[in-house]
This record gives sequence, structure tokens and C-alpha cells, in this order.
Amino acid sequence: MPLVCLSLTGRTLAGDLAALDRYRDKIDIAELRADYLDPAEVFAIRGFPERAGVPCILAVRRKSDGGGFTDGEGARLVILAKALAYASPDKNANFAYVDLECDFRVPSVEEAARTFGTKIIRSCHDMTGLPADLDAAWADLAAEPGEIPKLAVTPRGAADFARLVSWATTLPPGERIVIGMGEFGLPSRVLAERLGSSIAYTSALYAGLPVAASGHLDPAALESQYRFREISKDTEVYALGGSRSVVSSKAPALHNAAFRSAGIDAVYVPVPADDAPSLFAALEAVEARGAAITVPLKEAILPLLSRRSRAVDEIGACNTLVREADGWSGHNTDVIGFERSLLEFLGRKDLKGQRATIVGAGGAAKAVAHVLSRLGATALVLNRTLPKARELARRYGFAFGPLAEHATSLIADHSDIIIQATCVGMESEARGDPLDWYEFTGREAVFELIYRPDHTALLDRARAAGCRATNGWQMLRYQSAAQYKIWTGREPPESYFS
Ligand code: NAP
Repeated sequence: MPLVCLSLTGRTLAGDLAALDRYRDKIDIAELRADYLDPAEVFAIRGFPERAGVPCILAVRRKSDGGGFTDGEGARLVILAKALAYASPDKNANFAYVDLECDFRVPSVEEAARTFGTKIIRSCHDMTGLPADLDAAWADLAAEPGEIPKLAVTPRGAADFARLVSWATTLPPGERIVIGMGEFGLPSRVLAERLGSSIAYTSALYAGLPVAASGHLDPAALESQYRFREISKDTEVYALGGSRSVVSSKAPALHNAAFRSAGIDAVYVPVPADDAPSLFAALEAVEARGAAITVPLKEAILPLLSRRSRAVDEIGACNTLVREADGWSGHNTDVIGFERSLLEFLGRKDLKGQRATIVGAGGAAKAVAHVLSRLGATALVLNRTLPKARELARRYGFAFGPLAEHATSLIADHSDIIIQATCVGMESEARGDPLDWYEFTGREAVFELIYRPDHTALLDRARAAGCRATNGWQMLRYQSAAQYKIWTGREPPESYFS
């Protein structure tokens, strides 16, 4: 199982030790990032391993490698030499590892490390992409027997991520570290075991220290949200595919808590993707058994499915995938989640006689329209791209219009319920209020599908006008519970509902 390493990025050693104390029960080793230390602190790093009380890595990362060190190589050499000098017969008082870049070949430093039992991590950091020839880059890193090769690269999309994983899983066994940095690389951190990495790096984010590398998670999140310590080679992988916003979704906490409480050896991990083909490549690379699909891919994935449920065909959008022997089958649980949470919110059994406005005509709005029609409501569809509003409205005999001020009179005629199903206002997506030109009367019931942040400008305005209003958190719970049932064949645990 990979060791969990806490990268310490404090300006003082005392600050680093305080952060380390907070995470002692969650980590195995610490990385002292000397490039973050104030200059006066740097020359006291020799004593750090003994004070830390856990095996320590020393790294003095240059700016070009994603660190903060801007002085010359001479100054870096002096820091490394001093930190490794005067080795103690007590191994715990020495650095257990030193991170040296592949272009830093200084025999005296390497010799000192080897003599005193400090393992060399031989690293390469590509801050802009993936090397064209991964094998050649690796050969350079793995040239010296006894050193631990470390390749940290920056996937620019899910296709890069897929290439990295597929390549890493063909490497021969042995101590190594392979990391995808940035948002697209995040799943490589959770799935370090799958990539054969012996160390998973984290940052003390909840302790307020700066993130040491893009994509680092906090050790507490890695453990509780992603059940990192429970992941083995046999663990089934489920993914959340969609825009970069998936990396801060609350769905992993929900699904992973459910897998844990039911004793299922599975993990749910965000896999950001800009397009459907690269998402599928990434799902294949991590051998995912299933996936949830979100903004903006619920419609784009349809042509790539080998089978679709009746609901997917009727709605025209898919938010749930299951791996089958011959490809991927598509399902839609948004309808289940939306119907149940809407009826609970309204305290009704159906929507007969209700007149509703749907804001949006994307994948989620399609599920909304389907439910409203089934429950007997009459609706108006408003969307920025008018032809999409027209197409969706025609399917159910609804009215349609542009998402613009002159639709106010149309809303007036469809204002018992207003359902906000665009991603405007969603964290990491478009900011704002898609109805900022509409004044709520206080009589509308307002249901917004967004749940992150938990209240938006639109919800605040609706509540201030006296409207009953809710966000999409309950919908997320219900639609996730339905996904769990599709993936596992079991009844969803209580954790989805309470
Ligand atoms: P989608 O398929 O990508 O559709 C996005 C919708 O937002 C389209 O109607 C799009 O209009 C509109 N939009 C995007 N940017 C806009 C802007 N700047 N101004 C005006 N309209 C804009 O996404 P989706 O899957 O339907 O998801 C939509 C929202 O529902 C997301 O916030 C998602 O998190 C939420 N959701 C929540 C749950 C839940 O369980 N709570 C479930 C599903 C979805 P155009 O057609 O003009 O591009």
C-alpha cells in the first residue's frame, strides 16, 4: 500500500511541526519542502527529522519544477549538503529520503546520502504536460540501481491522464512514484496503488499551509472522503466524469461512505474530462466498473454507449454508466432524484394543474422536463440557446422562450414552480444569476438543481422575496442512491438519506 506523505510548506520549522502534529495519525512520512522556509530557518533543517519523529524526505524544489526556490544551484547544493552532513548513528535522526532532480547529479551529495542510508528519490517534474516519450523519460530516472524513480507530470486532459495510467501499469514491479499533477491528474493521487506508486503526496490544507503541488488533497480528505487506506489492487473503481468542477464535488463523500458502510470494496473518484471520447479512454485506463456523468457530458456520451435504458432514450440524456462485457450501458437517475426531491419539497403527490418554468435545456433540464410532464404539469422552457429550448419544449408540448428579460411575461404565466437547471451560479462554472432580470413575487416555489455552493444569488433573491426555495442537495442524495443500486444491485444504505 502506498505511504501517505505530508508535504510541509510552512515558512518556519515550528509551523511545519505544528502541522505535522495535526496529521500524525493520518500519514506515514513527511516531506520537508525547504524551498518554502524563510532563509533564517533553512540552516536548521539538519535537526528536522529527529524533531519530526517520522521518516522525512528532504526536497528543495526549484521554481521550474513547481517549487519556490529561486536562488542558484550553488545555494541549493549547500542546503542539501548541510542537511545530509553529520549523519547520526541513529537512523531516525537522518533524512530517510532526499529528492534530487534528474539533472542534479552531484556525486558528493549522492555519496553522502548512500553512505548514511538516505534513499535517493530521482525526480522529474513536467509542469506543462507529459513527455512525448514516457519510456525514455523513465529510463533516465531509473538508470541508477537503488534510487527511487519519480515522474510527476501534468495531464492536459483526460486523454493524457489515460495515457499516463496505461503506461504506468505496464512498468515492472519495484519502488517508484508516478504522479499526475493538476486537476486532470487528481485521480492518479487517489489511485496511487493502481499506478504502482509507493508514495502518495498530500498537503496540510486544513491546517492552512499552502498546497505543495497542484492537485494535492488534504490527508484527512484522502482517508475519509476517498477511503485511500482501504484501496487495494482488487478495489473496484467508480468514477465521476465531467467538467473540472468534479474535483470538488460532494458526490465522492456520499458514495464512498456508502461503500464503506456496506463493506463493499470499491472507491468513487472524480475523473475530469473535456469531452466524451477522452472520458471513456480514462474510464478504460482505470478499469472503471461504472461512472456518474455530469456537466457538460450527459448528452455528448450518448453515441458512445453500447446500450441505453428506456429512460435514457426517452429523456435524451444519461448520468449513469455501467461497464458491460461489450461496452458501456447508460441509465438516468436524475429523473428519480429530481422527482422524489421535488414532490417532497412541494408536499405533493403529483403536479396536476401546476404551471412551471424550467430554466435551461441541457442534460439535467431534460430529466426535469420528463418528470414535470409525467407528473401532469404544464411548463415553459427558457434557455440561452433558443433552438435547444424549442426542441425540448416540443417533445412534451411545452412553451419555450429565450433566457432573457423579455421572457418575463412568459414566466408570469408559468410561475407556480421555477426550476433552475443551468450551471450558472455553480461553483467552478459560470458565475451569476440566470434570472437576474426577473423579480420574484414571493408566490413561486423555487427549486435549484445546483447544490454547490449551497445557496446562490438566485436562491438568496428568491428567499428574500418570500419564496419557498431549495437547492439540489436532496436531489443529489436520491439520484446517487439510485446509482448505487444500479452499480451494486443492493439496496442503498441509510447514509444516502440522512
Ligand atoms: P449541461 O448539460 O452542460 O447543460 C448546461 C445548461 O446550462 C444549458 O442549458 C446551458 O445553456 C446552460 N448554461 C451554461 N452556461 C450558461 C451561461 N453562461 N448562461 C446561461 N446559460 C448557461 O449541464 P447539466 O448536466 O444539465 O447540469 C446543469 C446543472 O444542474 C449543473 O449545475 C449541475 O450541477 C446541476 N445538476 C444537479 C443535480 C443534482 O443531483 N443536484 C443533478 C444533475 C444536474 P446552453 O444550452 O445555451 O449552453
